[in-house]
Order: sequence, then C-alpha cells, then structure tokens
Amino acid sequence: MCAAFPDFRLGSVLATSFTGTLSERHGSAVERIPTPHRLVDWLAVSGLAVDSCTTAQLDLARELRESIHAAATAAAVQDALPAPAVQVINDRSAEGRAAAILTPEGKRRWRLSSACCVEDALGVIAADAISIIAGERDGKLALCASPTCRAAFFDTSQSRTRKWCDMNTCGNRQKKARFHANQRKDPGSAE
Ligand SMILES: [Zn+2]
Repeated sequence: MCAAFPDFRLGSVLATSFTGTLSERHGSAVERIPTPHRLVDWLAVSGLAVDSCTTAQLDLARELRESIHAAATAAAVQDALPAPAVQVINDRSAEGRAAAILTPEGKRRWRLSSACCVEDALGVIAADAISIIAGERDGKLALCASPTCRAAFFDTSQSRTRKWCDMNTCGNRQKKARFHANQRKDPGSAE
C-alpha cells in the first residue's frame, strides 16, 4: 500500500466501480489506477486477482474503462451507443477466458486462465458492462448529478431516483457545500 496513490471508491456493480477508477472527469480528474501495480490492487479487491500487469495491459484496461464510460453514458441518456466504444467492449469480452466457479459455500468466484491474464479480468468487466447496458439486470443507468462528476452509475433503488454516483461521495460533498454556504449567509445560526 502506498499513501501517494489515491484510494479506490468501490461500488456494488463491477463495471461502474471500474469506470469510477477515474473520477471527476469534468473537474480535476483523479486517476486511481495510475500504474500497472494499482490496477493489480484494484483487480484484487474486486475479486479478479492477477499477479502482474504490464503497461500495455494497463492501457487496454483504461481503453475499456473509457469505452464503458462512453457507452453507459449514452445508454443513460438514451442516445445511440458510440460504435468504437461498443467495439472495444465486445473485443475485451470476446478475448477473456475467465470461468465462473461455484464455491462449496454457494458463492460465485472467477477463475482466470492464468495468474497474469489481465485480459481475462477485463473480459469479466466487459461482460458485466454488457449486462447493465443491455438492460438485463434489475436497475437503471443514470448520470451523477454532480456537474464535475457526471459518472454513469447503476441505480438499483426501488424508486430509481438516485441522484449521485456510487458511495455517495458526490452527494455528501454537495450537502457539505450547501451547509457551509448556509452558515456563511447566516453566521448567527451556527452559534
Ligand atoms: Zn458522482
């Protein structure tokens, strides 16, 4: 663990958790997988452990991430899906050779074809993106209400009215800003 690297914001949906490794795309962007080693760390906490990653594999991962972001954003606003993004998602999905394994405890685990096969892990992420963009899962793609974020997230709330992306960091930031603005307007109320 190195404190110099930004931490991860893990959501419950693999594909949008992955797109969240670049945050504040419309503000001061934060790259959370700046090195191959950080992608290895992210894959480990996401149930897709590999032992190593090359710079070329990190490039593939980032290309997939931005393709998922583009396609999920289009799907959220009901635009036509961008063809180059769809191509990248399909290529990564087709290249992966991970197998779903049922554990004795009845949990699903992913088994990669080899421990250095980042491509297998990317295949799992691409397939996850396909399932949410295709509308196969219970939920709805939406865009975060924060103007500096605009991340695509998968809203599984019953009312489908969630406004903020995963982990609510954007929502919390907004609430805090409003709180401070109110304090400034009416300093007496803070006493
Ligand atoms: Zn957000």
